[in-house]
This record gives sequence, C-alpha cells and structure tokens, in this order.
Amino acid sequence: MKTWDVIVVGAGPGGSTTAARLAMAGCDVLLVDKERFPREKPCSDIYGRYGVDAYKEIGAYDELLEKGFLFPELMLTSPDYTALKGPNVLSVTCPRRVGDNILKEAAAQQGAKVLEAFWVNDLMMERGRVVGVKAKYEGRFVEYPARIVIGADGSHSWVANRLGLFSDNYDEVFLAGRAYYADCDPPLRTMEVHYDPYFFPGFVCLSPHPGYGDVVNVGIGYQMTPYVQALEDVEALTRKFIETSPFGEKLRKARKVSDWMGWRVPSAGQIGKTYAAGAMLIGDAGSFVDPFILEGIANSVRSGGFAVQTALEALEKGDFSESFLSVYEARWREKMKPRLDALQQMALVARNAEMLNATFQSLKANPAALKKMFG
Ligand SMILES: Cc1cc2nc3c(=O)[nH]c(=O)nc-3n(C[C@H](O)[C@H](O)[C@H](O)COP(=O)(O)OP(=O)(O)OC[C@H]3O[C@@H](n4cnc5c(N)ncnc54)[C@H](O)[C@@H]3O)c2cc1C
Repeated sequence: MKTWDVIVVGAGPGGSTTAARLAMAGCDVLLVDKERFPREKPCSDIYGRYGVDAYKEIGAYDELLEKGFLFPELMLTSPDYTALKGPNVLSVTCPRRVGDNILKEAAAQQGAKVLEAFWVNDLMMERGRVVGVKAKYEGRFVEYPARIVIGADGSHSWVANRLGLFSDNYDEVFLAGRAYYADCDPPLRTMEVHYDPYFFPGFVCLSPHPGYGDVVNVGIGYQMTPYVQALEDVEALTRKFIETSPFGEKLRKARKVSDWMGWRVPSAGQIGKTYAAGAMLIGDAGSFVDPFILEGIANSVRSGGFAVQTALEALEKGDFSESFLSVYEARWREKMKPRLDALQQMALVARNAEMLNATFQSLKANPAALKKMFG
C-alpha cells in the first residue's frame, strides 16, 4: 500500500486550501471527505477576508468572486439598536455548497488526489505516532498510510477525538443555524450582525445572495451554556427578531424557503493543543473559530497555512515527532492568537448587554476607533 506524504481529512475550506497548497509544493497529498460534493454546510456563507490570499494562491478566488457577492458594507448592532457600519473590502458571500466545491476542485486541479464518500473512522497508529487513516470507502474498511495526517474534519472532528484533543467547553461552544428567506424588502445588500434583545446573548446574522434568487441567509449564533439552560426555541426567537426589531422589518413579508440547519461551532475561547506525533489539527477540528461573530472559514484556511509550512519542513527532515510538529502550534499562536484573544475579549463584552451597548455607543462616537475596528 502506497504511503502518502500527507492525508488531509475533510475537504471544507481549511482542508481543500491546505491540500492545494501542499500539492503546489510538490507533495503527494490525498484529500478525503465523507460527503459527495457539492455538499451543504450550515453557515452564514461569508468567506472572510483573511482567507482571500489563499484563494488567490490556489487559483480559486476569481470563481468565488464570480459565483459569490462582494457586499459593499457590513453593519453590527447592539441590543439597544445602536448600529455600527463599515465598508467591506474583500469578504464574499457564496452558498457553501458552491464555494466549498470551488475550493475542493482547485485542490484537485493543483494536483491533490481527492476521494469523496471516504469516511475516516480511526487512525493508524505505530508506537504512539499517527501513520495513516482507517476509513470506510466504497463499502469496504480500508487503511491508507501517510507520513502526516492533517485533521480538517470540522467541528465534530473524529481525528481530534481519536487523539484525545477534542474540547467541549459549553461556555465556548456555540449552537449556530441558518435558513434561507426569499422576498426581503428592500433587497439586502449589506452583511448584518444583530445582537438582538430577544436573542441575547446570541445574535442574528443576515447575509445577502443576490445571485441566488436574492435570498437572504438568516443565521443565528447562541452560546451553548445559556441555550442548554433555557432550551430556547431559536426559530421562535428569530421570528421575534423579525417581528420586533427595526432591522428585522425588511424580512416581515419574507418567506422561509429552506429548512433550518444547525451545527456545533467550537470557538477559539476553548482552543487547546492542536498537534500530536504525525498529526495536526486545523480549522474547526482545532477550535479556531472567532468567538465574537463565529467566523471560522478564514481561520481554518489560515491555520492550514501554518500546517502546510510545518508539514513541508517535517517531510524534508523526515521528522514527524510530536516535538517537531509542535512548531505548527508555536506559529499559529504567534500569528493568530493575539487577534483571537482580542475577539475573545469582544465576545466576553458581548455576553453583557449593558457593556455591549456602552461599547457600541462609544465606538459610534469615535470615528477613528470605528474605522480601526472595521479596518
Ligand atoms: C450556522 C453557522 C454559520 C456560520 N457562518 C459562518 C460565516 O458566515 N463565515 C465563517 O467564516 N464561518 C462561519 N461559520 C463557521 C464555519 O462554518 C466553520 O468555521 C468552517 O466551516 C470551518 O471550516 P473547516 O474546513 O475547518 O471545516 P468544515 O467546513 O466543517 O469541513 C469539514 C469537512 O470534513 C468532512 N468530514 C467530517 N468528518 C469526516 C470524517 N470522519 N471523514 C471524512 N471527512 C469528514 C465534512 O464532511 C466536511 O466537508 C458558521 C457556522 C455555522 C454552524
């Protein structure tokens, strides 16, 4: 059986961009996913700006832009309806079914071998080191050896579980969901995040899809602890937002045209160890989601970039030990952690309505600070 340089488990944005970059660097890389693409992923469909360099690098950005929407402005509101607005430069909305497929195709075009309907259910281990994956594929249980395995298998990560690196702190994990609404009046052209009083401490996110029947993606994010304590009906809360908020008014005559889809979102508030001998975790598998507005796509791509760098060095040196791969964690901690920490501070403020109102009011009164925030 062939030994791959790297097997990337999960062809979401993190896995696909990582596999593409490894292939571009000359690696023999296998990208696997349990789904057949195009596939759905519950999301507000916003491909944030910090992923754009990677999409350009792997040759996927033009198509993402063509099939998505570069919305001109974003708006955040606090529970007292104070609105902060700023320009959007690079972030794009695109249904995940479409956008993730573009990225997976780019990985294949760059030379990664892609296998779909390949369900990883265990890791191959040798003297405490990961040396491949075990999976169900084409009706058979199979084993695929690799020098390095990258867990990009999302928020329920099997790879993280198997390595004992799966975190589940309900204060830092969110329930998030989305449904599509048609006939928004007037049509939505901004991306909006509302810390609505009915939803508090959660939020409602609206994102526009002019190219897809002008539907609006109505998303919700709700911290697990209060959710479990109150067991709120998030759909009823969303209706309250639509009926009572000045920002929900445009959806009052809209029709829900899809089911709600919900998912677990592991925020960086609980981020822990992300490597083991022979393995690294990126994206949701490593809890890289921004804790403030639950943006995780760009962080999955960015963390993947550090995993690529580390994997290339490990392959060159032939060293897949835990201590060598710890460099991956040192890298993202240096480059990503300060921003994640700042967002965690914002997230803590966002759990207290009075503090959030006061913060929004003071930002609104300070154009320079506001510009910095949106910049
Ligand atoms: C409702 C909601 C709204 C959100 N809105 C946004 C947003 O607008 N912008 C944003 O940036 N983030 C958003 N997020 C977060 C974002 O969806 C994730 O952070 C992002 O998808 C992480 O990318 P990833 O590549 O790490 O994992 P994923 O995109 O989850 O991809 C993981 C892949 O792994 C595959 N997989 C899983 N298990 C296995 C297995 N055992 N074997 C093989 N394959 C496997 C899955 O099929 C999947 O394709 C939202 C999340 C939710 C739930």
